[in-house]
Amino acid sequence: MALFDPKAKIISGYERSIDDRTSSIRKYYDEIGKLYYDQYKDMNVDNTKDINTRCEAITRLSNEIEDYKLKILFERGLKKCPNCGTENSLEYGFCFKCGTKFDEDSANAPKTSVIDETPAAEPEKEEAAEEKKEEEAPAEEEKKDEE
Ligand SMILES: [Zn+2]
Repeated sequence: MALFDPKAKIISGYERSIDDRTSSIRKYYDEIGKLYYDQYKDMNVDNTKDINTRCEAITRLSNEIEDYKLKILFERGLKKCPNCGTENSLEYGFCFKCGTKFDEDSANAPKTSVIDETPAAEPEKEEAAEEKKEEEAPAEEEKKDEE
């Protein structure tokens, strides 16, 4: 069994979270399409509320995905320029491409604004992923034998 870089493990956890949300979003899109069609077909049907709930969920999930992307960047020692979107090293005070000044705290871990399930809030902690055990291993092609 290969020894994994703990950071790689954290990153793949984030990537899995992104995948989960991406498929949820896809599911909601499907449902919205159906709800909208049912409403179109039958004038007596009003699915507005159900459609709106799903639209809100999609927005929330999209924000969470953006958060995870920032966390992945952070684990890789990168941050995104808020102006041009270029990836910069965490130590940089200015964007090397457009020169935008970064906030003082831009070198710190991204804030968990919308995601509350991940305990990655304290930057001084070495790896915050301890609490989040990888119990549900991805059902990929090859299943590596977990003790
Ligand atoms: Zn920039």
